[in-house]
Amino acid sequence: MNVAREQGLLVVEDCAQAHGAKVAGRPVGTWGHLAAFSFYPTKNLGALGAGGAVVSNDTELADRARRVREYGWKERYISFSAGINSRLDELQAAILRVNLTALDTENAQRFRWADRYFQGLDHPALTLPARPAAQHTTHVFHQFVIRLAARDQMRTHLSAGGIGSAIHYPVPVHRQPAYAGRSILPPQGLPITEKLCETILSLPMYPQLTQSKVDRVCAAILDFLETNQGRRPR
Ligand SMILES: *Cc1c(COP(=O)(O)O)cnc(C)c1O
Repeated sequence: MNVAREQGLLVVEDCAQAHGAKVAGRPVGTWGHLAAFSFYPTKNLGALGAGGAVVSNDTELADRARRVREYGWKERYISFSAGINSRLDELQAAILRVNLTALDTENAQRFRWADRYFQGLDHPALTLPARPAAQHTTHVFHQFVIRLAARDQMRTHLSAGGIGSAIHYPVPVHRQPAYAGRSILPPQGLPITEKLCETILSLPMYPQLTQSKVDRVCAAILDFLETNQGRRPR
């Protein structure tokens, strides 16, 4: 925000994975000029179909967002600016009103499972998610992402044990065909980003997990690391 202020820029927060998270006691979505939340079914606050919201405390920007949402209309059937159709369906809104009441409880459950993973996955071959050091800064664990060298072999091992895992995300933005070759990129690419894409692994994480399920995931991971000890990971 300081950089943006100095440069006269607007900040749009992407809060799609952070519903309910706080930084220094202040909720995400209240820092920037505008913030976008996704209500895609898998998000911490999800509808039964696609949906989302833009929030702002700047009335002019909020008006502009409202116009973009609906054909650029300021009054019905008159487009004052270019717009799209991105209205939140009323049925989804009704579902979200109910689901919103469970957000804090469900985030607390995610936190509990994350804590269990932290306890169960203390192993030198694994890099666990960073825990926020600042006071009143909370993680809502939309994903629980670990890193390890033998990521692909681990996935195969987990899958054989009936444990789902995922990679969020396998192809970084600058390697997406649509954005490849943009001159803004440094010639050496983005080596850290690219390395992360090869080592990240998202473990099962949702409020309805149980302690025994989390423990089973941890046991399967440690079992793989034990049986592969001494074998040099890729
Ligand atoms: C899901 C997600 C989006 C996209 O949200 P949609 O509602 O599917 O458009 C954007 N950014 C992040 C970080 C996300 O996780």
